[in-house]
Amino acid sequence: MSRAPILPGATIGFLGGGQLGRMSAMAARAMGYDVHVLDPDPACPARAVASRTITAPFTDVAAAEALARDCAVVTLDIEQVATPSIAACEALVPVRPGAAALHIVQDRVRQKEWLASLGFPLGPFGVARRRDELDHELARLMPAIVKTAQGGYDGRGQVRVRAAADVAAALPLVDRVPVVIEQWLALAGELSVMVARDPAGATRTYPVAFNHHDHGVLTWSMTPAPVAPAIAQRATEVAVAICEALGIVGLLAVEFFVTADGEVLVNELAPRPHNTFHTTERSAPTSQFEQQVRAVCGLPLGDTSLVTPGAIVNLLGDIWPADGRPPAWERALELPGVRLHLYGKADARPGRKMGHLSAIGPSAEAARDTVLTAYARLLDPPR
Ligand code: ATP
Ligand code: MG
Repeated sequence: MSRAPILPGATIGFLGGGQLGRMSAMAARAMGYDVHVLDPDPACPARAVASRTITAPFTDVAAAEALARDCAVVTLDIEQVATPSIAACEALVPVRPGAAALHIVQDRVRQKEWLASLGFPLGPFGVARRRDELDHELARLMPAIVKTAQGGYDGRGQVRVRAAADVAAALPLVDRVPVVIEQWLALAGELSVMVARDPAGATRTYPVAFNHHDHGVLTWSMTPAPVAPAIAQRATEVAVAICEALGIVGLLAVEFFVTADGEVLVNELAPRPHNTFHTTERSAPTSQFEQQVRAVCGLPLGDTSLVTPGAIVNLLGDIWPADGRPPAWERALELPGVRLHLYGKADARPGRKMGHLSAIGPSAEAARDTVLTAYARLLDPPR
């Protein structure tokens, strides 16, 4: 495969036009690339930025081919793209990350078993393909969390099993597809690492992010993670090793659990921009979105050093008042340094990621406190 860089003026194809694709497409546009998108939703967030949007399911091989035909490179904002569609693109242009890495990552069972086979640090887990296997693994691992192999995100497709009485709730999952059963861990915190890797194999990482989830969904994230340097270094080393073993060209986010005794365990992988690195638009010389463009186009990877600590808080559809008015954006934006990022989604359903707020500060915690103060103002408008 050619190592010549794909230069501005060329067209980048995105499989998936959600908020991640939209923000990467904005970065691509800023650098002078054209952007084409394929997404099943005709109103997908990236549509506003793309010069062409193909509306088709990710299983539509002909549509994927049509995307690739007019592009110099294809990348993605979601890993749940059917393998034949990726293969069809790969027959025409480089797909970055490529089919082999996506195949491993896009199925939770395959991903876990691959990580385990290479000795990467994981919490206790098992796999079940049938009811009797689920019973066996739950008896061994409870309290546990059962996760579907495919299609789960933002805590969906997951059931916590604290005791035998909860097992019934997990059954619909195992009826459908294989599941992963993880022991429920007492966490001291959650971290993530973003690795960019170029076609020649060079890698760059950002300072580690510290993440807070509620009910399985990311609420806020701040960088740099206020953890012992040895913990941040360990997470970074593991993430780079995973990225290299997968042969990723593009981005790989690795989510980590940190246990009470300081163990750093891999939670899961995402071969694309990641919610916990939206801070890089504020805290780094190169955002994760620009970095994705640089990596997949074979341009020099951008500087990932820390310019300033930063934080984001997610805006879920839940905070849109029932009376049809928007949240009080103007109140949040009164706070110095707070920015509003909305993804252009019309339908504010509960649990749906609609946007985020970002802030910077003298420390990660200060940035986090500012962004959470801004968030509280959205909900409590003196109108
Ligand atoms: P997302 O798409 O938001 O990354 P997801 O649906 O893929 O999430 P996970 O990352 O597997 O789901 O889990 C979501 C969150 O649930 C984790 O970040 C963590 O807060 C909690 N969680 C998941 N598994 C465990 C576990 N084994 N022990 C403790 N907490 C867990
Ligand atoms: Mg996750």
